[in-house]
Amino acid sequence: MAELEIFRKTVGYLGTNCYILVNHDTGECVVFDPGGDAQELKELFQAPNFKLRGILLTHGHFDHIGAVRELKDAFGVPVYASVEEDRQVLGNPEVNLTTMFRHAMSLHADETLRDGQELEIIGARITCILTPGHTAGGMCYYIEEMQSLIAGDTLFCESVGRTDFPTGDAGVLVRSIREKLYVLPDETKVFPGHMDSTTIGWEKQHNMLVG
Ligand SMILES: [Zn+2]
Repeated sequence: MAELEIFRKTVGYLGTNCYILVNHDTGECVVFDPGGDAQELKELFQAPNFKLRGILLTHGHFDHIGAVRELKDAFGVPVYASVEEDRQVLGNPEVNLTTMFRHAMSLHADETLRDGQELEIIGARITCILTPGHTAGGMCYYIEEMQSLIAGDTLFCESVGRTDFPTGDAGVLVRSIREKLYVLPDETKVFPGHMDSTTIGWEKQHNMLVG
């Protein structure tokens, strides 16, 4: 079994959590949601123990994608996102909110992912779990051998993502969490797009917004 570790890096003025999954046996890594300024992340991935192999997006909001293009250009790595997110959010500056908050930007995934797909990358097996609600194509990434979930803005510690942006839907979000995330083992560590980590078991007991 590969020696895998997840690092958190908080980026940008909204304090977005960017995560880096590293395989210490090979030094290969993937980055989830590189928002904020690319420079700091670029320097990190120039180090020999962080060989970047891919960019995985939980969703296409501006604060999760700010450094995507520069990292992609600098390291020649593919961008992964759900089919739905690629179609409805990433490519549309009105919907990915880049027109509102920074310079208008549209992106497209190089590899589109489907619900339930198993992605084998850097020696890790990552299960893609589609969790619409915050956006239509929000994707969570589950790494079973690490009992870890990269949750984007779907589920937070005792909270949930906003549903008042385009393609958001509160009822759909709660159903996604109940039916797709609460079925994971209670000890699963949840790494959200903002604020602190939590676990599935803790949220089932304490998250009043999911019920
Ligand atoms: Zn968001």
